[in-house]
Amino acid sequence: MVKDVDVVGRKIALQLQSLMAIVEFKYNRHEPCLVCKNKFMHHVDGLPCEDDNSIKERAPVNSPVMAKKKPV
Ligand SMILES: [Zn+2]
Repeated sequence: MVKDVDVVGRKIALQLQSLMAIVEFKYNRHEPCLVCKNKFMHHVDGLPCEDDNSIKERAPVNSPVMAKKKPV
């Protein structure tokens, strides 16, 4: 029973993380992901993992997904 509550709580925490990551995209680049502990900017789409069972691909090492693009 307690385990079920933990699972649901975890799911909500991850959903909330994803939602906040989108809303505050410019400000959360250095936030660590709850699932893989990598910063949001090191995820392939710049957003945290949404599921403990599906860790996202990492962004290429020298091109993290940043909010501000360098002026060309
Ligand atoms: Zn992650």
